Amino acid sequence: MPNNSERLTLNAELSPKVIFGPIHSRRFGKSLGVDLSPGKKQCNFDCLYCELDPAKTMDAYDDVVSVEEVTTALKLALKEHDDIDFITLTANGEPTLYPYLSELIDEINAFKGTTKTLILSNAAKIDDPKIQEALLKLDEVKLSLDCATQKCLRKLDRSHTGIDIENIKAGMLDFKSKYNGPLVIEILIVKNLNDSEEEIAKLNEYLLKLQPIRIDIGTIDRPPAFDVKPLSYEDLHHIAHLFDPSLPVYIASRKKVESKPSSYSDEEILQTLSKRPLSPEDIVILFDDESQKRLERLIKEDKINSIETNGVKFYKKA
Ligand code: SF4
Repeated sequence: MPNNSERLTLNAELSPKVIFGPIHSRRFGKSLGVDLSPGKKQCNFDCLYCELDPAKTMDAYDDVVSVEEVTTALKLALKEHDDIDFITLTANGEPTLYPYLSELIDEINAFKGTTKTLILSNAAKIDDPKIQEALLKLDEVKLSLDCATQKCLRKLDRSHTGIDIENIKAGMLDFKSKYNGPLVIEILIVKNLNDSEEEIAKLNEYLLKLQPIRIDIGTIDRPPAFDVKPLSYEDLHHIAHLFDPSLPVYIASRKKVESKPSSYSDEEILQTLSKRPLSPEDIVILFDDESQKRLERLIKEDKINSIETNGVKFYKKA
């Protein structure tokens, strides 16, 4: 499931179809992407914000690459790049619809060495025991959860018939109870579709039960096929504050910043960070230069701590 924040770019010189990258990111280091549906979009959602052209939803791939094709291309790419930190399973669509997912992960695990594996999934099949069994073999799992209600799921993610948000939520809880690796949740927020206080309150209630290692909230970064609108950074910041302060919410989209950095006194910095930890990227947007210097001093005075959740740093009041 390619998404706005982590879409990998195709390097045609490597493997023509199945392998993307490598790309560099602060979070994942150097990563290679594996596209399990290189031929066309195959997805059980048809999200309004999808960067791919709209397509009829499906519950099984009808265009399938073989495990051998994927592993051959991946081995070749790993040979060419011997310093890959992450192998990311994704698709032009939804990677958990790939019929040989479990078998493929076994094969990759047999030769990947210390390179870590990650999947980006829309979570629609997380209640399926076979999918859970496959995902349990990965080093890291990132699942999308744009909505807490069926109405929102149908409207925004335009899910395939039979997909039920309550089954997704129950499946995630079940998976989390068995999984030892980091489970990250991604929420893509679209103006007037899933940004209401009611929808966020329901997501918050559920995420307090799930307790993922991190919640990335983002918005549309590139023009989608449909006329749906992104949120500004300030809107996302407001939404982050609607979640319980104990939840590690990270604002992953920072393209549409409308306001200028402001001046914060010591007291205001401490008060702000006591309500919600902020990432260094948030600090740069919100705090002017003087306030950033004040923050540095408060860190030295041990009035502010930094914590790290799964590779992302946050500052919080000590
Ligand atoms: S889950 Fe949504 S965004 Fe991802 S590929 Fe499917 S339709 Fe596109």
